Amino acid sequence: MPFTVNIQHLEQEGQAYQGSIPIDDLDLNSIDDLICPLSSLDYRLTVEKHETNLLVQGEISQTFSCECSRCLKNFELPVVISGWSGFVALEGEESLPVNNDMVDLTEVLREDILLVLPQHPVCGQACKGFGSKVVETVEPHDAEELKDPSPWIALDHLNLEKDKD
Ligand SMILES: [Zn+2]
Repeated sequence: MPFTVNIQHLEQEGQAYQGSIPIDDLDLNSIDDLICPLSSLDYRLTVEKHETNLLVQGEISQTFSCECSRCLKNFELPVVISGWSGFVALEGEESLPVNNDMVDLTEVLREDILLVLPQHPVCGQACKGFGSKVVETVEPHDAEELKDPSPWIALDHLNLEKDKD
């Protein structure tokens, strides 16, 4: 179900709302090739009416499935915005439509979740991406071993001992 509030119920004091907006009620299909929603959008909010505005505060969260833009591995990205707040105008150009005292706040939550999604999802800070291991092994480690003179010293030693006999 979309997240709707009845503004008549808000006239006296704020109301608490808790629920989930299913993926099908959120227009998230076109967000990104690398990101798709895994869970519903969960909310725990209080809504207050201040003259012709609604003040919405609380926590919104949703989990996404991402493909790492560096190594192409799939990983889960839980998005939790606690201490979230938004202003919704009920009058004027930017206002949301009010139908029979009901206002649909789904779009407001959806937009703010989209804002915090990464442009280039990365599976973790330690991700070095594709093919980085190959690059690392070519470094000075091997070159030093070749320069190590110890096998030749050992051989010289052996020859000297044979000569003594
Ligand atoms: Zn990665």
